[in-house]
Amino acid sequence: MKGPYNVLYVSSEVAPFAKTGGLADVAGALPKAIKELGHDIRVMMPKYGFISDRKYTLREVIRLKDVHVPLGDREYTISAKSAFLPDSKVQIYFIEYPPYFDRESPYVNPKTGKDWEDNAERFALFSRAVLEVLRVLHWQPDVIHCNDWQTALIPTYLKTVLKDDTYFAKTSTLLTIHNLAYQGVFDPSVLEAIGLPQELFSPGGPVEFYGKVNFLKAGIVYADLLNTVSERYAQEIQTPEYGAGLDGVLRERADSLYGILNGVDYSVWNPETDELIPYNYSASDLSGKWKDKEALLEQLGLPYDENVPVIGMISRLADQKGFDLLAEIIDDLMALDIRFVLLGTGDPKYHKIFEKVGKKYKTKASINLRFDNPLAHLIEAGSDMFLMPSRYEPCGLNQIYSLKYGTIPIVRATGGLADTIKDFDPSTGKGNGFVFEKYEAGELLATIKRALDVYKDKKTWLKLIRNAMAEDFSWSVSAKKYVDLYRKLVRR
Ligand code: ADP
Repeated sequence: MKGPYNVLYVSSEVAPFAKTGGLADVAGALPKAIKELGHDIRVMMPKYGFISDRKYTLREVIRLKDVHVPLGDREYTISAKSAFLPDSKVQIYFIEYPPYFDRESPYVNPKTGKDWEDNAERFALFSRAVLEVLRVLHWQPDVIHCNDWQTALIPTYLKTVLKDDTYFAKTSTLLTIHNLAYQGVFDPSVLEAIGLPQELFSPGGPVEFYGKVNFLKAGIVYADLLNTVSERYAQEIQTPEYGAGLDGVLRERADSLYGILNGVDYSVWNPETDELIPYNYSASDLSGKWKDKEALLEQLGLPYDENVPVIGMISRLADQKGFDLLAEIIDDLMALDIRFVLLGTGDPKYHKIFEKVGKKYKTKASINLRFDNPLAHLIEAGSDMFLMPSRYEPCGLNQIYSLKYGTIPIVRATGGLADTIKDFDPSTGKGNGFVFEKYEAGELLATIKRALDVYKDKKTWLKLIRNAMAEDFSWSVSAKKYVDLYRKLVRR
């Protein structure tokens, strides 16, 4: 069957409704790109308490008013509301079960900073509810496209407790892994509540992982096809170094595991049209970029000098992102003639370290420990360089945004960073950033210094900016690759 295909896209976060990271950006953009290719794709996500019905004109769906969802030895009554992804005809359903989802944050209790204690039950119910909603809608998708551990029980239910259910006989599953480090690992006591038979939990069984229940492992075992968000990461996660304990399971499924680089949404991240930056600009006229640089520094209270480069960084403060390397070289870095701007939240240990950095280097560093989308846009526009020294990086979006804004990425060659950033060679004029291989502080510092050297030669730097801005990572290319996977699934 050549299509068009009917696809249900399921995600625990979708921008602009709920976002904690890159997954939300993907879930808000990829379905639109697939719709534009002519397929019937719809989205489902939980209805969190902070999603305003009024702001997003969510509508009741009469038929989905009281849907009964059997799970374990209980039956839940859920509802669903509906809206459209902004500026599109992609319909999104919000699964409503207030006791589980009427909370101010998707995964973590903001008061304690810890995961919600019932996350296993919450996302098991979400996954199981999605299937019952399909039944009530009388819609039988060819493919259910799942994302990360929160939806990894969908393939698991379909292949186990629902394997003889004819309603889903023609439905296949794709599981996209956005970050292997987050697996949904829980105490085995949840098994009954999430409606899975004990035999799946035998040692080495599909959901067993070192004595715990592991949602993602189950998804990897049961999904018909798998992919990650870059080709390099798809290879890396099959090795012990990057496999987070699941490399063996992934190697067993190597034939079904693909890598598809994320696209980015240039309607949101484009310096020519970005409404969140004071001055728009393009590759042919960069004057707006220099004004944005001045505006950025003024807003953050750092002295402006057009010849002093600004190094920006926007990131979750997590071990993954290379903050230990940065902390190691921070004093050497601050001895250089630069400004450093950091925007991020996350691990308290990094909050502490970088708060100190902010106090110690008041005129050189601006440390902003919060989530601030407008500031993120201004940093992309107003910085000269962008730092991503990740230990691992499934795809990474910020380096791709940076390219578009002519803000030169300095990255470690891992995952999607390796697939998108090519080291600049001043002698040939080829490349779009600066890349180092080994996860070592010395390599990071040397690479920043290499970038600063090139920066001094204005003409060469402008060439590099033009290379970067000419790159195109729009969704249309990657969306076609996803459709290729849907085709494989339908042919099975
Ligand atoms: P990850 O998904 O691992 O967090 P990505 O680079 O793929 O990393 O995506 C991160 C996304 O979250 C980007 O859109 C980035 O701009 C945004 N982001 C991260 N931290 C912040 C912050 N503190 N304030 C604003 N935006 C942020």
